[in-house]
Amino acid sequence: MGRVRVVVIGGGIGGLCLAQGLRQAGVDVTVYEQDSSPRGRSQGYRLRISPEGERALRDCLPPRVRDLLVATANVRYDSQLVAYDENLVEQWAPTFTDPRGEAPEKVDAVDRGTLRRVLLAGLDQSVHFGRQCTRVERRADGQVVAYFADGTRAVGDVLVAADGTNSRIRAQLRPGDVPRDLGVRTVFSRISRAAVTAADVPPGLRDRFSYVIGSDGYHLGLMPMIFRTRPDEAAARWWPGLPMDDVDDYYMSVFNVHRTDLGIDDETFFAMSGTRLCELVLERTAGWHPGLRGVVRHAQPDMTFAVALRATMPVQPWDQGNLVGLGDAVHTMPPSGGVGANTAVCDASVLCRVLTEVDRGERDLPDALADYYRAMVVHASQAVAMSLRIAQWSIKKLDVPVPDADAGKPR
Ligand SMILES: Cc1cc2nc3c(=O)[nH]c(=O)nc-3n(C[C@H](O)[C@H](O)[C@H](O)COP(=O)(O)OP(=O)(O)OC[C@H]3O[C@@H](n4cnc5c(N)ncnc54)[C@H](O)[C@@H]3O)c2cc1C
Repeated sequence: MGRVRVVVIGGGIGGLCLAQGLRQAGVDVTVYEQDSSPRGRSQGYRLRISPEGERALRDCLPPRVRDLLVATANVRYDSQLVAYDENLVEQWAPTFTDPRGEAPEKVDAVDRGTLRRVLLAGLDQSVHFGRQCTRVERRADGQVVAYFADGTRAVGDVLVAADGTNSRIRAQLRPGDVPRDLGVRTVFSRISRAAVTAADVPPGLRDRFSYVIGSDGYHLGLMPMIFRTRPDEAAARWWPGLPMDDVDDYYMSVFNVHRTDLGIDDETFFAMSGTRLCELVLERTAGWHPGLRGVVRHAQPDMTFAVALRATMPVQPWDQGNLVGLGDAVHTMPPSGGVGANTAVCDASVLCRVLTEVDRGERDLPDALADYYRAMVVHASQAVAMSLRIAQWSIKKLDVPVPDADAGKPR
């Protein structure tokens, strides 16, 4: 019998990936998620999957879940970004080399809601929805207890706080670790690909990863999500009975502006409805090329929301023994680098490996967690630095300093 009982707070990307890995290794794991169901999160956006993120997912997922992941991923396409000015004149853009090349099974982007469904495959008995953790505690016998808003509690040998960027557990245990505001305000939207195809948009914008850097301080990213197989069809084939959201191909659009150029106070901005946010983007891009506005015009108001970009600086290990932080709870970063979720699954992969070794009696917990934090601080600091460098390249104005390329590396 295993020696470690793991309680995970947060059934998002990092927490579920960890649970998949631990379950596969035979470790006792239970996840508690505040949303009432897997549909609880309405953000319909695309997640880029990096080579490191894909490797971590493959490490943690059993083969059938991996097949489902590949089947529901984005089609392979030329993912090199093309940068334009607001008149659709091509600009210089950084190039990225992908060591995976054109491997047929490559997973380079997924739909977030679909990924969550995929990560839930086979975990029915291990994930409890509608359980909001209000606080945690370590008992005199060393065990950890999570208390929930419904009056229940859960006890374990290790508690993993995978409760995201607004982590309540981080606020309790490390109140000084507050992610810093970059000063950038962002409007995320989903745009139906069918609508974009039907509209007369310039070919250069179709099914391409495009960035527009306006001379007026506004910045727009457009990223297509084109499913290899519709998620419901993929589930019917690879995991019959697994519920999937009804979702068609789309573009994710990301409109960034520094708050001084936005000129709207936060209270007013964050109170705006999806419809008002869509209008705002159209107003602010009034002088842009009609082809760009043609795409933005189709943004779905019910899939449009506002975000303030933030970053954890510096990323630090938690000094809380068997109360362990993972993912955005420990290292928030702006989505500009497309690596936040990738970093969370890299955490999950390392933590899964070391906890499995503890469960098998091959090492003790403090030593295993020290290893986890060493690896996490290096890869997460690099991810935060890279995300900030890309944000600086595209948005120009940030309220925080941009770390150098060696951030997080042992000196
Ligand atoms: C618009 C946008 C686009 C992005 N694009 C990319 C991208 O292309 N690539 C990429 O790698 N990353 C991207 N990211 C970042 C990525 O979404 C996050 O880094 C990733 O989701 C972090 O995973 P996590 O498990 O730490 O947190 P989450 O996925 O946020 O999961 C946290 C979970 O904890 C739950 N929870 C919170 N509090 C409690 C509580 N008290 N009790 C119980 N449960 C709780 C939440 O409901 C949630 O389900 C993007 C982020 C945004 C906002």
